[in-house]
Amino acid sequence: MTPIINRKFFIANEEDILQGRTTDIYFKRTLEVLKAKGLMDVQIAAELTVSGLPRDWTWGVYCGLEEVLRLFEGKDIDIWGLPEGTIFPSRTQSGIRLPLMVIEGAYSHFCLLESPMLGMLSHSSGVATMASRCRKAAGDLPMIAFGVRRAHPAIAPMLDRSSYIGGCDGVSSILGSELLGREADGTMPHALILIIGQSVDAFRAFDEVMGPEVPRIVLADTYSDEKVEALAAAETIDLYGVRLDTPSSRRGSFPDIVREVRWELDLHGHKDVNIILSGGLDETTIPPLVQAGASGFGIGSSISSAPSIDFALDIVEKEGVPIAKKGKYGGRKYLYRCPNCLDFEVSLTKQIPICRNCNIEMINAEVKLMERGKRIVRAETPDAIRDRVLTQLSKMVVE
Ligand SMILES: [Zn+2]
Repeated sequence: MTPIINRKFFIANEEDILQGRTTDIYFKRTLEVLKAKGLMDVQIAAELTVSGLPRDWTWGVYCGLEEVLRLFEGKDIDIWGLPEGTIFPSRTQSGIRLPLMVIEGAYSHFCLLESPMLGMLSHSSGVATMASRCRKAAGDLPMIAFGVRRAHPAIAPMLDRSSYIGGCDGVSSILGSELLGREADGTMPHALILIIGQSVDAFRAFDEVMGPEVPRIVLADTYSDEKVEALAAAETIDLYGVRLDTPSSRRGSFPDIVREVRWELDLHGHKDVNIILSGGLDETTIPPLVQAGASGFGIGSSISSAPSIDFALDIVEKEGVPIAKKGKYGGRKYLYRCPNCLDFEVSLTKQIPICRNCNIEMINAEVKLMERGKRIVRAETPDAIRDRVLTQLSKMVVE
């Protein structure tokens, strides 16, 4: 078959996605059969669940909802569900899968968009969850998402948004930061130092050319020892910090390098110079670096290449009657959450359950998000969603 997509890069554009052109072909064929058999108006309820989370994760960060609502806008369906930024386990204590979102309406109205919807949520939530795991590891220290270079550029804004919502304090891509309504964060690349020649000359040039709004964070690991370069930088310009991106072949113990650089800077009266670390960091390598005196982190591929979360959408009700495939539970369910311990409960009724841990009434966890294709909740800012994530992270006893 001759390729028929005529475009420069191998990406879908917004129109392709909205028209269902990135969907799996079997949804299109299903639609043809429904049409031929006069079943276009069959009303169903479908629920979004996760059977299990990747790796050893016990919770995930629900991310990507804003894109899904934009995808479904104008389709004659109702949508209920958790707000974006909810931290969720895949199942309740008794093992029932959480219905994270419920769609009500004619299946024909949205089946073509099922694949893109699941993809948006799966990918965004995986990235946001990994960012949150790194956030827990880094405590209160600043953490910038550096990972756009490890993924296709077409999704850089999505990656940066998800990283930020998960708890990163800033993002490095220009488009990603514009989407978030903030300045992009960055330091300097080795390329600049190599082209200028000497590290201190590069530090001076950077300081001369950059505006006052750009923090003076320079790379102190290009040619010689980290503590020598860090000290040289601190004595050359009014420095905010040094970044260490020591290659793994030269690391030995990265925490020990950090301790030594901190010691040397302090010894020479540069206690206010921060030590920012990058290069292959993740939730397991961050804690010893925090302990060693790191001031902040740039985190790349562990977040931008995080495993995706396998969301599934299943029909649970047809014309008001419970129905389900093998392995799933039929019937429209209602989701409740304890305001105290944040535990979830799934119920078949609208009767408020009591939290088994706290013995208090739970609250309705789902919100009506869309009515007959019209959004009934306003789009939230990334900051508001991120705050929701951070509040739950601080309240939850999570591993
Ligand atoms: Zn509780």
